Amino acid sequence: MTTADRVTRRRARALRLAVLIAVLAVSTVIGLVHQVVAGPAPAGVDALCPFGGIEAAYSLLAAGAFLPKLAAGSLVLLIASVLVAFVFRRSFCGQICPLGTIQELFGRLGRRLGAGGRAVPAALDSPARYLKYVVLAVFTIWTWAAAELVMRPYDPWATYHHLTSGELLTTFPVGLAVLAVTAAASVFYDRFFCKYLCPMGAFLGIVARVGLVKVRRDRGACVDCGKCDEACPMNVRVSEATDVNDIECIGCNECVNACPVKGALEVRGPRETRVGAATLTGAVLAVMLLVVGVTTATGDFSWTTKSVVAKSREAGAFDAGAVNGRTSLAEVAEASGVPLESLLERFGVPRGDAAKPMREIKDERGFTPEDVRAFVEERLAKP
Ligand code: SF4
Ligand code: SF4
Repeated sequence: MTTADRVTRRRARALRLAVLIAVLAVSTVIGLVHQVVAGPAPAGVDALCPFGGIEAAYSLLAAGAFLPKLAAGSLVLLIASVLVAFVFRRSFCGQICPLGTIQELFGRLGRRLGAGGRAVPAALDSPARYLKYVVLAVFTIWTWAAAELVMRPYDPWATYHHLTSGELLTTFPVGLAVLAVTAAASVFYDRFFCKYLCPMGAFLGIVARVGLVKVRRDRGACVDCGKCDEACPMNVRVSEATDVNDIECIGCNECVNACPVKGALEVRGPRETRVGAATLTGAVLAVMLLVVGVTTATGDFSWTTKSVVAKSREAGAFDAGAVNGRTSLAEVAEASGVPLESLLERFGVPRGDAAKPMREIKDERGFTPEDVRAFVEERLAKP
């Protein structure tokens, strides 16, 4: 392998890491601003997570209804990640996903400390890998049955976005535990959540079966050094495969970049086309940006939340799904036509707090936005 080859590989690894960190940074800023800005603000994590799109799509198909707290943005991100999976397999996980990045950063810390890169014993690892499919099935069906985002309080990504929120210990104690376990376990075991618990990874792994681009090993060139196996964060046995078809492969190309023999391990597309690791990173990012860009231009992807008043005006009727912790009782009254006095009396809120976001008063007054939604819907259903 020439010096130029080594430089190309180093650059490919740096590019992937740069993209991962950029996506994590942008989504972190969006989440923080969503928490602290009053009024119209960047869309929250509930509207900007592709797994929300799976739950929404299932509910849409099964019950013909969108879920509260969800925006079309989740469906757009889901479509983009599925398009990526059709071509580049589970590369969304390995090249874009910010929760994966958090795990990788802790994994790198673990390797620096000499504790990382361990493998869970096979007797435990093999059955545990099926857990994520159970999580996928349970939360998708439960969401449809409950008609709301039931995974939210358990979701480490939603929790990450509420680390600075007053809701952290009231709504997200389980999610906080899952996030803490994920971070701690990732120090020792790479991509712990991806391997065992992530429902999005489970879903994309199934779609990725038809993926066109995969890692391919040339048995003739391979010297059986095992460096690809050591580099793989998902513990795929690359050195035993010809085509890496493993459902666990997240398309990170760490194996390709670790292989010391030129041509022994490469990413290949249809008709044996060679795809450089950096090209793959660029292509995956381009697909995501293209889908988000086009849908932003058409108005189907919204970067900001709309108030319940604006959404109800657009819909021509009260939009209960737009009621959330940022909404005030005064806005609910304006959007629904239910007298403000009735709302204040029902939830024991003084008139001076009528314009405050519910998240600021709900714990003190002992109610939730869901209670308000249910009360208004009941009132509107009465003849
Ligand atoms: S097999 Fe290679 S591309 Fe797939 S997850 Fe492992 S290191 Fe990444
Ligand atoms: S790193 Fe390359 S040469 Fe070594 S076992 Fe893997 S494919 Fe073969």
